[in-house]
Amino acid sequence: MTVPRSWLALWRRLALIFLSAALLGRIAGQPLLALLIAALGCLAWQLWRLYRLYRWLQDEGEIEPPRAGLVWADIAARMVRLRRQNRKRKRKLSRLLEQFQQATAALPDAAVVLGDDDRVLWCNGASQQLLGLAPGRDVGLPVTHLVRHPSFVAFLGQQRQGDSVEFPSPVDDGLLLNARIVPYGKKQRLLLAADISRVRRLEQMRRDFVANASHELRTPLTVIVGYLETLLDSDDPALASWRQPLRVMRQQAGRMLHILEDLLMLARLESQKERPPRKPVAVPALLADIAEDAIALSGEQGHRISLSAEPRLWILGCEKELRSAFSNLAFNAVRYTPAGGRIDMRWFADADGIYLAVEDDGEGIAPQHIPRLTERFYRVNRDRSRGSGGTGLGLSIVKHVLNNHGGQLRITSELGVGSVFVCEFPGELRVEPPVALARNESGFR
Ligand code: ADP
Repeated sequence: MTVPRSWLALWRRLALIFLSAALLGRIAGQPLLALLIAALGCLAWQLWRLYRLYRWLQDEGEIEPPRAGLVWADIAARMVRLRRQNRKRKRKLSRLLEQFQQATAALPDAAVVLGDDDRVLWCNGASQQLLGLAPGRDVGLPVTHLVRHPSFVAFLGQQRQGDSVEFPSPVDDGLLLNARIVPYGKKQRLLLAADISRVRRLEQMRRDFVANASHELRTPLTVIVGYLETLLDSDDPALASWRQPLRVMRQQAGRMLHILEDLLMLARLESQKERPPRKPVAVPALLADIAEDAIALSGEQGHRISLSAEPRLWILGCEKELRSAFSNLAFNAVRYTPAGGRIDMRWFADADGIYLAVEDDGEGIAPQHIPRLTERFYRVNRDRSRGSGGTGLGLSIVKHVLNNHGGQLRITSELGVGSVFVCEFPGELRVEPPVALARNESGFR
């Protein structure tokens, strides 16, 4: 490390002062006194410089440093540079802060910074319109004192990342909000709330439209099917050449009716208003019926269909919905398994829940299709599905039925090996059947 030039100059100067003092002291016969006076003089001078620098540092407004000698000039120059950099940084930060505040003020979503105990540290303008928070008034208060909806309070307490909650705005019941929490920093969390009333209204409009259109189409279509059946049943020789086209028309009209029925079923499943009350459902008996229907559907294809069901395993639910979901799975297994294939249905419970597993050794499904199977009209092979009477809505119905029962659908499959569709229900749905009514498991082959 090299010694700065100002320091060398200072030492040179001090050496000169002390040498001169020693020389003068010697001439005057008082060398020690002369050295002492010189040392005190130097000390006083340096203290004066230090004092001026201190005053200058205290005075934020003054830019130019005091005139100072040697080392002090260096220190002052360095400080001037630091001061300038500091001012520049401050200006940049305040510009950024201003831009950030303008951006968050323009944000249509509410943004609230929460600190310890979920106290409001900061909030933007939209949080006033959506959550009723006033930046000046509510800072420092726990957000749960200001937004008291039970779903929101429970959501804030559970701290599960990635989740969101929907609740009506405390300012206006007509506004539906969707809130998310993003943790950041050490203990801070950002609460973001967006108005989703429009999206929900549009979804409702879409649901109503599909339900109404399906409903309106069903009646004329039923009439057409009725007439086609009458024509097919007729012995009139004039119709002989029309028999084949009439059969195709009857078949296609039947398919359309089937699609309409499934669309109406989905609309009912999605509607939160028309939820049927949950009642004890004798699932083993229900599955026995479905297995009989599956055998009938298989017909000459001779699938080996087996059912094993815990006889006393009943659940609370909607029988109509469960019948629809379970038959969709059983009939799919028949439709997508080659003749003579094996189909096993198992109804059982363990410590974690209650399950229906429908397993087949059929054609299987490639992994890229599996996550999309429950989408409406999603089919791996459109022609194959249509050819076997599919509507493309079956698994979507299954998913909705399970959702409505607090359950979920798990699908595992391998191409060419087979598939397993498992309906999982929460264990709390289990109910004890009346003793006399529980059907015996050995009743089905
Ligand atoms: P679809 O009426 O077309 O059967 P679904 O919603 O019931 O409609 O099923 C969606 C798609 O999932 C089907 O088109 C089919 O490709 C596939 N799939 C369903 N069940 C099975 C199964 N057991 N084995 C193989 N593929 C299946």
